[in-house]
Amino acid sequence: MNLRDVLAAAQGLGLDRLDAQLLLLHVLGRGPGERAWLLAHDTDALADGTHERFLALCRRRADGEPVAYLTGEKEFHGLPLRVDARVLVPRPDTEAIVDWALDLLRGRAAPRVIDLGTGSGAIALAIASARPDARVEAVDRSADALAVARANAQRLGLAVKFRQASWLEGAGEYDLIVGNPPYVAEADPHLPALRHEPRSALVAGPDGLDDLRAIVAAAPAHLAPGGWLLLEHGWDQAEAVRTLLRAAGLAEVTSRTDLAGIARCSGGRRLELG
Ligand code: GLN
Repeated sequence: MNLRDVLAAAQGLGLDRLDAQLLLLHVLGRGPGERAWLLAHDTDALADGTHERFLALCRRRADGEPVAYLTGEKEFHGLPLRVDARVLVPRPDTEAIVDWALDLLRGRAAPRVIDLGTGSGAIALAIASARPDARVEAVDRSADALAVARANAQRLGLAVKFRQASWLEGAGEYDLIVGNPPYVAEADPHLPALRHEPRSALVAGPDGLDDLRAIVAAAPAHLAPGGWLLLEHGWDQAEAVRTLLRAAGLAEVTSRTDLAGIARCSGGRRLELG
């Protein structure tokens, strides 16, 4: 079979064309940026063993496993991250909170930053990469996640201080506290589609706000005067999170939108003293 035929067969199994292309490139030892190569070689023959490995991955994808787990890699904010089932797959929408963080840190030398529930390390590593002068810490409660994050930092040569902790326990004082905590409600109908990802990275109580509430309550005591708290949240949680931020005494409370134009992260600032 040639490459065009195996791609058609994968779509027959129910895969998106893009997913099938990414998996085919992976078994061919090529990167996700080489889709043009695939198109130019669509009459090339595929070796039997490679074809079988490709079909096995397609079946797993059809069963709902994220492409990133099958290829072992996901690009986030320009960084190639290694990921597996120990961590949530970094979402493109989460790049919005990184951009916001970088906007706020502009003009502030050697800022102290902490990423709460870092998972693969995505947010912390993106900030460390864009701001080599920043002192970036990242925590996660999961030792498994920290192993993934540390390996990413090492591969990318980025200096982030990782620590096993739940939210702000054992934390110091920061110019920026940022995080993408679990925020999906226990009974959310989308959860079955996310069943291959760690439940502990997704689900936060009956309304999905348990972890956001805990973080907002603890954060002001760890913010330097003028420091910011930025949090990602669910598509319908912006108003609830802004209310929490204001109730915690933070000022300049606002939200920013994701790629789909949905208010996806909210933040507030500890006012300067005096
Ligand atoms: N954005 C993810 C999703 O809905 C959830 C991430 C999270 O809970 N932090 O697929």
